[in-house]
Parts: sequence; structure tokens; C-alpha cells
Amino acid sequence: YIKELAELKELEAVTTDGHRVELVGNIGSPNDTDGVHKNGGRGVGLYRTEFLYMNSDTMPDEEKQYEAYKAVIESFDGDPVIIRTLDIGGDKKLPYLPLEEEMNPFLGFRAIRLCFREVDMFKTQLRAILRASAFGNALIMFPMISGVSEVRQAKGILAECMKELDEKGQAYDKNIRVGVMIEIPSAAVTSDIIAREVDFFSIGTNDLCQYTLAVDRMNQEVSYLYNPLHPAILRLVKTVIDASHAREGLFTGMCGEMAGDPMATLILLGLGMDEFSMSASSIPQVKKIIRSVSYEDAKAIAEKALNLETGEEVKEMVQAKIAELG
Ligand code: PEP
Ligand code: MG
Repeated sequence: YIKELAELKELEAVTTDGHRVELVGNIGSPNDTDGVHKNGGRGVGLYRTEFLYMNSDTMPDEEKQYEAYKAVIESFDGDPVIIRTLDIGGDKKLPYLPLEEEMNPFLGFRAIRLCFREVDMFKTQLRAILRASAFGNALIMFPMISGVSEVRQAKGILAECMKELDEKGQAYDKNIRVGVMIEIPSAAVTSDIIAREVDFFSIGTNDLCQYTLAVDRMNQEVSYLYNPLHPAILRLVKTVIDASHAREGLFTGMCGEMAGDPMATLILLGLGMDEFSMSASSIPQVKKIIRSVSYEDAKAIAEKALNLETGEEVKEMVQAKIAELG
């Protein structure tokens, strides 16, 4: 088994008829890059930068952030590294940034919403990411986007940061790609509009499922309703992928747990998902499934899934297909 994993590491994530996708890792710190390399991940689809902030007693300054981002970017040596800007609030708190108690923290002052109020904090992070982008292939990703206005606002602030670096003569990747997480249903439904403003989407199914199905992702009592294979989720995923592919050069990835769930692989592949980002240890298993099927068959499986009525039916159908593939 270990030997099989080692062999898999060197192989491409490609279907039997030559359709290639990207398999990349989710990380929370530079220490996690090793695991991604060991499991054959060719980049990072989600760098959760909030841990840099949470594991600190004070706000990490630009230098400290720059060093962390640079270390990750350099370790991937030209492979893409998607850095997500601060996603704090909800269940994640910072000791040095007191926030008011909220009735519904997951519907409240979180992520990009908070960054728009704490603009100095946001700009410090953006400058750190930009400066680090000079050392490889970085992409910037904004979390908790609900509509295109927020994308425009965030890009406006990013442009200010670029101007500041230009004035100081500091280097950065002037063609850095900018994308958004699709994790709020309103963003998924309007992804065709948002597509005009971005280079890529990454679907965050942990939140997208929570908000679409109205199921608190932390509440055990209702967890039986939390099903990424629910037809509503599959339709949203298809909407987002199609919106990106309608525009030249755009791609869609997924960085929620669903991306590393073997039960979802065939469907996501068949819907046209370009990039799968997951915890490093899931990469080999997902790669194996992708290599076992043709893109044509995966498309037929996705089509079939879209015509089923419940998540349970979808799961049964996929289980049968996986058994068939061996
Ligand atoms: C998600 O919501 O799917 C996601 C990847 O972001 P997080 O789990 O950090 O909220
Ligand atoms: Mg999320």
C-alpha cells in the first residue's frame, strides 16, 4: 500500500482519456507544506492565513506575514499557491481584536466584512502577500463574498496597495491572479456576474452547504441534514463551474471538505471541476479515482447525479459506480 502511494505521487491526476485536473493541498501554515509535497500535491488551493493571526498575541506585522507567505510560495517553486485573506469572525476569534457578541456569528461580522472595517489590517496583509508574490506563483483569494460589489471593493483596496508598493519601488507580481471563494449561495447564483471581475473561483463547500441547507456546520443535532451531495449543492456547483468556463481563462476549484471526499470525486470531475484542494492525506485516494475513469464516463455520472431527487440517491449511485471501477 505504501509502495502504491509512493508510485501515485509521481503520476498526474489524469483520466483514462487524457483529461487533466489539478490536485493541490489545503494548508494553515508553512509547516504544512511538507505533507502536501509528500502526497504529490502540485500547489496550494487554500492557504488559511487566519492561523498566523490566531497563533499570535499581537497583530502579525507586514514583515512577519511576508516571511510566512514567501516561505510557502518558494517551497512550491512555481506551482500555484492560493493565499486566502483573513477569514476571522464566526467561530474564529483574535485575542487582540475584540468583537461584539453576535446572535448569529456565521451570518455576521466575518472575513471580508471585517477586513472592510479594519482597512489598515487588511492592507498590511495584502502588501505582505504582494511582496511575497515576487518569489513564485501566488494567487490572492477573498473569502465570504456575497456579491460583485464586495469583489470590486476588495480589488480597489488591492489596487491601492499595489500603488503604494510601486511608489516605494518594491517588487511584486504585477499579473497576480485574483479570485474569490464561492461559499455563500448568493455568490454562487450570481457567479456569472462575479466572473467578469475575477480570474478564478474556489468553492468553499463547508460554508456553502451550511448556508444553502441552513445547517449549522458545528451542530451535531442537525448534522444528518448536512449533505454535500444534496441536489441543491450539485446544481450550485454546476452553475459556478459553467459561469467560469463561459469566460476565457477562468477556472473553478473547490477547497471545502467535499473536494477531498471520494464520494464526490466522480461527480465533481464530470461537472468540469478544474482544481481539487484538500487536506494532503486525501490527495492519493482522490487521484486514484480520477485515474480510474474516463472523462466521458465521469460526465455521464455527473449528468445522472443531477437528475436524481435526493442526496441519498446520489450517494447510492456513486457507491455503485465506485464498486464497478474497482
Ligand atoms: C469552506 O467554507 O468550505 C472553506 C474552505 O473555508 P473554511 O472551512 O475555512 O470556512
Ligand atoms: Mg468558509
